[in-house]
Amino acid sequence: MIDTHAHIDTEAFDEDRAQMLERAKQAGVEMIIIPSIGVEGFDNLQEIVETYPGLYRGIGVHPHNVANITEVDMLRVEQESSNTHVVAIGEIGLDYYYDFAPKDVQQLWFRRQLQIAKKVDLPVIIHNRESDEDVLRIITEEQDGTLRGVFHCFSGDTEILQRCLDVGFHVSFTGNITFKKSTMDDVVRQVPNDKFMIETDSPYITPVPFRGKRNEPSYVRFIAEKIALIKNMSTDEVITMTTNTAKKLFALTVVTILCAVNLFAQDDYDDHPYPKKLGLMFIGATNTIVEAQEIAGIGTQPISYNGISSWGVGLNYALSDKFIIEGAYVNSVNNKVTVATQDNPKPQANPNTHQTVELVAKYLLNPYSRVVFYPTVGGSVFFNDYNIGDKPETNGLPQKSNTIPGVVIGFGFFANINTPYGLIAPGAEWRVDFYLTTEDKQTSYKGKAYNANVSTFFSLPRITLTWYPKL
Ligand SMILES: [Zn+2]
Ligand SMILES: [Zn+2]
Repeated sequence: MIDTHAHIDTEAFDEDRAQMLERAKQAGVEMIIIPSIGVEGFDNLQEIVETYPGLYRGIGVHPHNVANITEVDMLRVEQESSNTHVVAIGEIGLDYYYDFAPKDVQQLWFRRQLQIAKKVDLPVIIHNRESDEDVLRIITEEQDGTLRGVFHCFSGDTEILQRCLDVGFHVSFTGNITFKKSTMDDVVRQVPNDKFMIETDSPYITPVPFRGKRNEPSYVRFIAEKIALIKNMSTDEVITMTTNTAKKLFALTVVTILCAVNLFAQDDYDDHPYPKKLGLMFIGATNTIVEAQEIAGIGTQPISYNGISSWGVGLNYALSDKFIIEGAYVNSVNNKVTVATQDNPKPQANPNTHQTVELVAKYLLNPYSRVVFYPTVGGSVFFNDYNIGDKPETNGLPQKSNTIPGVVIGFGFFANINTPYGLIAPGAEWRVDFYLTTEDKQTSYKGKAYNANVSTFFSLPRITLTWYPKL
């Protein structure tokens, strides 16, 4: 369940905010959207949504509070709309019932905030009281196909509902639909299933059976139950539909992921946003070995072995913000080689082991970003064992070990994720290791064994996970 409109940043909840949120969680409320009403509350609201999980916010100035605002305040709305947890511009709109600001002033700032919403590509939360005509007119005038949002606490008739839908908007229902004297049944019946959401508008408009008490997000279920009753559906269906609609309109899934990453990122402990010193690295790779075999009297015979799974471990040491030195050990076992000999003309499996020690430097192109790209270059040493069968001395297969130097080049990227345990950097890299020398190797060609002069390179796309503990 998502309560798409609750003013739980207000004083009414200062005494028991944590307990109230716990009750909401117990009641099945997974997310709550808190609209803002005025510039004075922006910082407090931001602190609250960053403190508790599952809270998201709107940013904007409520028609009650627009009497004395200026372009400077609009600049704040626009700039802070990129804060984490901000999912909408709102609540904004017109209120001719209370009339706290002249109508033309309300309209001016309503329109201005719709324009900001279009610019920053966020949905809007509309507050509309006794101002249907002007709200709909201004939205229609500003609608360029990108404006989207919700008429919160919808209490219009079916005709107004249709006009809201026609301008591409959603509606959300609150406690008033549960009141005995409610005239909203027809509207609820008519609204398409993917065009409405539920809200409490806490601490106001408390639904039956708690009418008269302070409203809170855990009561949002009563709205879903009432809608289910009117629409002749199950409450679960209403909850699923409204949750999906809210997630889609406010892009909550994407925002949740971004907020999770950002939560970690708040844990900085020096000037660098992603500090690194010594990191422990785990490597998983798939090795492709490409050989060119030069066989006397026959010529060049290319051969490659694909998909050899490899693993490794390494140490990373940051020399500076931009340079990382990596030492790594990678182990590959190639089970795909078959060799025939004069004694055993039938090709037999001849697993080869390649152990590689690499020392490379990585140059970080954008070290202060969340995702960092780098080229890498260095050297390697291969320790090769050919034929590690059970009894190589008796099965007639050639057995040989050698040590060969190589060069490494590659390109990769990793993500920086600050956690309470240090920095975690998952990444991916494509690395090619070339043998610096050729080797003499016994090989088979048309069922016969030959000595070949072999040049080799390893192509290793790898995924890496590096942990830089706090030192
Ligand atoms: Zn409102
Ligand atoms: Zn409100």
